[in-house]
Amino acid sequence: MKITSEIFQVGGEELTSSQDAAIYLIVSDGQSVLVDAGCGFDQKQLIKNIQQYQPNPHKINLLLLTHCHFDHSGGADQLRNYLGCKIVAHSLDAFYLEEGNNTVTAASWYNATLQPFMIDRKLKKPEETVKLGTLGIKALHVPGHSPGSVVYLMESDEKRVLFGQDLHGPLHPVLKSNREDYNRSLKILLDLDVDILCEGHFGIFDGKKQVRDFITSYLQY
Ligand SMILES: [Zn+2]
Repeated sequence: MKITSEIFQVGGEELTSSQDAAIYLIVSDGQSVLVDAGCGFDQKQLIKNIQQYQPNPHKINLLLLTHCHFDHSGGADQLRNYLGCKIVAHSLDAFYLEEGNNTVTAASWYNATLQPFMIDRKLKKPEETVKLGTLGIKALHVPGHSPGSVVYLMESDEKRVLFGQDLHGPLHPVLKSNREDYNRSLKILLDLDVDILCEGHFGIFDGKKQVRDFITSYLQY
Protein backbone atom coordinates (compact mmCIF):
# COMPACT_ATOMS: atom_id res chain seq x y z
CA MET A 1 0.00 0.00 0.00
CA LYS A 2 1.49 3.29 -1.13
CA ILE A 3 1.52 6.20 1.34
CA THR A 4 3.86 8.61 -0.44
CA SER A 5 6.11 8.05 -3.47
CA GLU A 6 8.76 6.71 -1.02
CA ILE A 7 6.76 5.15 1.82
CA PHE A 8 4.75 1.92 1.68
CA GLN A 9 2.94 -0.30 4.12
CA VAL A 10 4.19 -3.86 3.60
CA GLY A 11 2.96 -5.63 6.72
CA GLY A 12 0.14 -5.61 9.25
CA GLU A 13 -3.09 -7.31 10.15
CA GLU A 14 -4.41 -7.49 6.58
CA LEU A 15 -1.08 -7.78 4.78
CA THR A 16 0.96 -10.39 6.65
CA SER A 17 -0.44 -11.90 9.86
CA SER A 18 -3.54 -11.00 11.89
CA GLN A 19 -1.34 -10.41 14.94
CA ASP A 20 1.18 -8.14 13.25
CA ALA A 21 1.37 -4.42 13.89
CA ALA A 22 2.01 -2.34 10.78
CA ILE A 23 5.35 -2.67 8.97
CA TYR A 24 6.46 0.23 6.78
CA LEU A 25 9.07 0.36 4.03
CA ILE A 26 10.94 3.52 3.04
CA VAL A 27 12.67 3.55 -0.35
CA SER A 28 14.32 6.91 -0.77
CA ASP A 29 17.46 8.21 -2.49
CA GLY A 30 18.75 4.68 -3.09
CA GLN A 31 18.28 3.72 0.56
CA SER A 32 15.77 1.22 1.90
CA VAL A 33 14.61 1.09 5.50
CA LEU A 34 11.96 -0.88 7.39
CA VAL A 35 10.03 0.46 10.34
CA ASP A 36 9.06 -2.41 12.69
CA ALA A 37 9.07 -6.11 11.93
CA GLY A 38 5.78 -7.66 13.05
CA CYS A 39 5.69 -10.95 14.97
CA GLY A 40 7.62 -12.82 12.28
CA PHE A 41 4.82 -15.38 11.81
CA ASP A 42 4.78 -14.98 8.00
CA GLN A 43 8.12 -13.69 6.78
CA LYS A 44 7.57 -15.16 3.29
CA GLN A 45 4.52 -12.99 2.71
CA LEU A 46 6.32 -9.96 4.13
CA ILE A 47 9.22 -10.41 1.71
CA LYS A 48 6.77 -10.78 -1.19
CA ASN A 49 5.07 -7.53 -0.17
CA ILE A 50 8.43 -5.75 0.13
CA GLN A 51 9.40 -6.92 -3.36
CA GLN A 52 6.50 -4.98 -4.87
CA TYR A 53 8.37 -1.79 -3.97
CA GLN A 54 11.97 -2.96 -3.50
CA PRO A 55 12.68 -5.84 -5.88
CA ASN A 56 15.91 -6.62 -4.02
CA PRO A 57 15.05 -6.80 -0.29
CA HIS A 58 18.73 -7.34 0.55
CA LYS A 59 19.21 -3.65 -0.22
CA ILE A 60 17.36 -2.88 3.00
CA ASN A 61 20.11 -1.83 5.35
CA LEU A 62 18.24 -0.67 8.42
CA LEU A 63 15.35 -1.90 10.57
CA LEU A 64 14.03 0.80 12.89
CA LEU A 65 12.07 -0.55 15.86
CA THR A 66 9.56 1.78 17.50
CA HIS A 67 9.44 -0.28 20.71
CA CYS A 68 9.96 -3.73 22.17
CA HIS A 69 6.43 -5.21 21.97
CA PHE A 70 6.31 -8.56 20.24
CA ASP A 71 3.85 -7.55 17.49
CA HIS A 72 6.46 -4.96 16.39
CA SER A 73 9.73 -6.72 17.22
CA GLY A 74 9.13 -10.50 17.20
CA GLY A 75 10.27 -10.87 13.59
CA ALA A 76 13.26 -8.54 13.85
CA ASP A 77 16.10 -11.01 14.35
CA GLN A 78 14.78 -13.37 11.64
CA LEU A 79 14.54 -10.39 9.25
CA ARG A 80 18.07 -9.24 10.05
CA ASN A 81 19.37 -12.76 9.35
CA TYR A 82 17.65 -12.80 5.96
CA LEU A 83 18.24 -9.20 4.87
CA GLY A 84 21.60 -8.55 6.49
CA CYS A 85 20.37 -5.24 7.92
CA LYS A 86 21.17 -3.49 11.21
CA ILE A 87 18.56 -3.07 13.97
CA VAL A 88 17.98 0.25 15.73
CA ALA A 89 15.96 0.64 18.96
CA HIS A 90 15.96 2.80 22.08
CA SER A 91 18.27 1.49 24.79
CA LEU A 92 15.46 1.36 27.40
CA ASP A 93 13.50 -1.13 25.26
CA ALA A 94 16.60 -2.81 23.78
CA PHE A 95 17.25 -4.09 27.29
CA TYR A 96 14.09 -6.28 27.26
CA LEU A 97 14.79 -7.60 23.76
CA GLU A 98 18.37 -8.50 24.59
CA GLU A 99 17.35 -10.37 27.75
CA GLY A 100 14.40 -12.09 25.99
CA ASN A 101 11.81 -10.78 28.42
CA ASN A 102 8.46 -12.35 27.51
CA THR A 103 6.45 -10.21 29.90
CA VAL A 104 7.52 -6.64 29.17
CA THR A 105 7.68 -7.37 25.42
CA ALA A 106 4.18 -8.93 25.70
CA ALA A 107 5.38 -12.03 23.81
CA SER A 108 3.32 -14.10 26.24
CA TRP A 109 0.14 -12.29 25.03
CA TYR A 110 0.84 -13.83 21.60
CA ASN A 111 1.55 -17.31 23.01
CA ALA A 112 5.08 -16.79 21.74
CA THR A 113 8.57 -16.92 23.18
CA LEU A 114 10.93 -14.09 22.39
CA GLN A 115 14.38 -15.39 21.54
CA PRO A 116 16.83 -12.80 22.90
CA PHE A 117 18.58 -10.79 20.20
CA MET A 118 21.08 -7.94 20.13
CA ILE A 119 20.32 -4.40 19.00
CA ASP A 120 23.00 -2.96 16.70
CA ARG A 121 22.40 0.69 17.46
CA LYS A 122 20.85 1.85 20.72
CA LEU A 123 19.25 5.28 20.79
CA LYS A 124 19.91 7.10 24.04
CA LYS A 125 19.10 10.79 23.51
CA PRO A 126 15.71 12.53 23.55
CA GLU A 127 16.25 13.25 19.87
CA GLU A 128 18.77 11.96 17.34
CA THR A 129 19.05 11.57 13.60
CA VAL A 130 19.56 8.25 11.88
CA LYS A 131 21.49 9.04 8.70
CA LEU A 132 21.61 6.86 5.64
CA GLY A 133 23.23 8.46 2.61
CA THR A 134 21.31 11.66 2.02
CA LEU A 135 18.30 10.34 3.93
CA GLY A 136 17.89 11.65 7.47
CA ILE A 137 15.27 10.17 9.79
CA LYS A 138 14.73 11.82 13.11
CA ALA A 139 14.16 9.54 16.12
CA LEU A 140 12.33 11.03 19.10
CA HIS A 141 12.10 9.28 22.46
CA VAL A 142 8.44 9.31 23.50
CA PRO A 143 8.14 7.10 26.61
CA GLY A 144 4.77 6.16 28.08
CA HIS A 145 3.38 3.12 26.28
CA SER A 146 6.77 1.48 26.91
CA PRO A 147 9.88 3.01 28.57
CA GLY A 148 11.82 3.15 25.30
CA SER A 149 9.10 4.00 22.79
CA VAL A 150 10.41 5.95 19.81
CA VAL A 151 8.74 7.69 16.89
CA TYR A 152 10.49 8.32 13.58
CA LEU A 153 9.98 11.47 11.58
CA MET A 154 10.91 12.23 7.97
CA GLU A 155 9.97 14.45 5.05
CA SER A 156 8.53 12.80 1.98
CA ASP A 157 6.85 14.45 -1.01
CA GLU A 158 7.18 17.72 0.93
CA LYS A 159 5.10 16.28 3.76
CA ARG A 160 6.09 15.58 7.34
CA VAL A 161 5.51 11.89 7.95
CA LEU A 162 5.49 10.40 11.44
CA PHE A 163 5.87 6.70 12.21
CA GLY A 164 4.13 6.56 15.57
CA GLN A 165 3.33 2.94 16.05
CA ASP A 166 1.41 2.66 19.29
CA LEU A 167 0.33 6.23 19.97
CA HIS A 168 -3.00 4.80 21.13
CA GLY A 169 -1.32 2.81 23.94
CA PRO A 170 -2.49 0.72 25.74
CA LEU A 171 -1.00 1.61 29.11
CA HIS A 172 -0.46 -1.41 31.32
CA PRO A 173 1.68 -2.01 34.43
CA VAL A 174 3.03 -5.26 32.96
CA LEU A 175 4.34 -3.25 29.97
CA LYS A 176 5.92 -0.75 32.38
CA SER A 177 3.72 1.98 30.91
CA ASN A 178 3.63 5.40 32.54
CA ARG A 179 0.66 7.76 32.20
CA GLU A 180 2.59 10.97 33.01
CA ASP A 181 5.29 10.19 30.46
CA TYR A 182 2.62 9.19 27.93
CA ASN A 183 0.74 12.49 28.25
CA ARG A 184 3.98 14.45 27.94
CA SER A 185 4.92 12.45 24.86
CA LEU A 186 1.54 12.98 23.19
CA LYS A 187 1.94 16.75 23.65
CA ILE A 188 5.36 16.61 21.99
CA LEU A 189 3.79 14.71 19.10
CA LEU A 190 0.97 17.25 18.74
CA ASP A 191 3.57 20.03 18.50
CA LEU A 192 5.23 18.27 15.57
CA ASP A 193 2.13 19.17 13.54
CA VAL A 194 2.72 16.38 11.02
CA ASP A 195 0.86 15.85 7.76
CA ILE A 196 0.73 12.05 7.83
CA LEU A 197 0.73 9.63 10.75
CA CYS A 198 1.57 5.97 10.11
CA GLU A 199 0.13 4.18 13.13
CA GLY A 200 0.70 0.62 14.31
CA HIS A 201 -2.85 -0.69 14.46
CA PHE A 202 -5.11 2.13 13.23
CA GLY A 203 -3.64 2.64 9.77
CA ILE A 204 -2.75 5.89 8.07
CA PHE A 205 -3.98 9.34 9.10
CA ASP A 206 -3.58 11.72 6.19
CA GLY A 207 -4.04 15.41 6.99
CA LYS A 208 -2.97 17.58 9.92
CA LYS A 209 -6.49 17.69 11.39
CA GLN A 210 -6.96 13.89 11.23
CA VAL A 211 -3.60 13.37 12.97
CA ARG A 212 -4.32 16.02 15.59
CA ASP A 213 -7.81 14.63 16.37
CA PHE A 214 -6.45 11.11 16.74
CA ILE A 215 -3.65 12.10 19.12
CA THR A 216 -5.87 14.43 21.12
CA SER A 217 -8.43 11.66 21.68
CA TYR A 218 -5.85 9.78 23.80
CA LEU A 219 -4.69 12.79 25.79
CA GLN A 220 -6.00 13.09 29.36
CA TYR A 221 -5.36 16.58 30.62
ZN1 LIG B 1 3.01 -1.66 21.79
